[in-house]
Amino acid sequence: MIWNQARKGAEMGEDRQMELHITCIPGDGIGPEIVREAKKVLDKVAEKYGHQMLYTDILMGGASIDVHGVPLTEEAIATAKAADAVLMGSIGGDTTKSPWYQLPPNLRPEAGLLGIRKALNLFANLRPAVLYDELAAACPLKEEISRAGFDLLIMRELTGGLYFGERKTVVENGVRKAIDTLTYDENEIRRIAVKGFDIARKRRGKVTSVDKANVLDSSRLWRKVVEEVAGDYPDVKLEHMLVDNCAMQLVKNPAQFDVILTENMFGDILSDEASMVTGSIGMLASASLNDTKFGLYEPSHGSAPDIAGQNVANPIATVLSAAMMLRYSFDLDKEADAVESAVKQVLKDGYRTGDIFSPGCVLTSCSQMGDLLAERILGI
Ligand code: NAD
Repeated sequence: MIWNQARKGAEMGEDRQMELHITCIPGDGIGPEIVREAKKVLDKVAEKYGHQMLYTDILMGGASIDVHGVPLTEEAIATAKAADAVLMGSIGGDTTKSPWYQLPPNLRPEAGLLGIRKALNLFANLRPAVLYDELAAACPLKEEISRAGFDLLIMRELTGGLYFGERKTVVENGVRKAIDTLTYDENEIRRIAVKGFDIARKRRGKVTSVDKANVLDSSRLWRKVVEEVAGDYPDVKLEHMLVDNCAMQLVKNPAQFDVILTENMFGDILSDEASMVTGSIGMLASASLNDTKFGLYEPSHGSAPDIAGQNVANPIATVLSAAMMLRYSFDLDKEADAVESAVKQVLKDGYRTGDIFSPGCVLTSCSQMGDLLAERILGI
């Protein structure tokens, strides 16, 4: 990331011009179509705000298998590491029909994604769930709840906890028994908590730390360390919530949440629940960060092989992932706001791709949606 001289007359730290090196992973299925539209919007941001976006594409998933025989090469990892951030479409094919799924698990498309997450040490997963006024009808919650709207973000620890602990299955006295272990050390908790509080500062300044401290030791340590970190963020409000209550509150009163900070398994479950209550899979962005500003940004949905190549996919989740990249990797908050405002405006103006279409709206293709969004990047 290269910072150019601030514009004449601009105050320090304002209106910075940047040269941004972005590795793109178009991937499989609708991936190339939605990444193309996200680049269109980023290019418009660059034009309006005086930045330079330099893209390098790499292959991953099925696209890499077809060319290299493996879902991720060392060269692709090196290219991603050399960039300031990675923007991804989606990987994978039809799991029942694609020949990629005849391969051993370590050579299938998804192994590429696990491999890059590991190589880039991405331990913090961010999934926003936003209910837009114009799409409120897609929300499966009662109208009196959806009317209040919501805009929350789940910050999930991604590399520790139950999914990475020791496990085994044994037979004891003729009875099969399976054991999984849930461990967290204080450093793993501290680094994700710091990310959670940093991000709450960029939002509405509230962290809800979710655990099961009435039962689990790992949760009691989680709560203690989160409290310690909170001491450095007096401007951020902290509350603790038990995971069972949180699952209930997400459908009862989602508007109460800003940042939900939680461990791996709780985050896995709660982030899917939060996505479902928005009702619009094509609108959900995500990011995975390491302990620097580096991140991998991708939509929450998959590669939608059923609609690939038809120019009908909704590119908004990828465009909103690009907005997260501007905000969290580059600290370009105004530019990120401009992208998010363009999304709100396009919905207000009545344009919809097929997945979010409702009568009375204008049906648009994937590429038209990209054009409409780019037109609405208003700039400084
Ligand atoms: P999916 O999210 O790809 O599709 C589910 C349904 O939602 C489909 O009907 C699809 O057409 C629709 N859909 C998804 N995104 C859309 C968009 N942007 N616009 C319009 N409609 C959209 O889930 P799936 O079918 O279970 O998985 C397909 C492939 O994607 C599988 O190979 C799976 O492993 C992979 N996958 C990859 C990722 C990733 O790359 N991070 C995540 C999830 C699934």
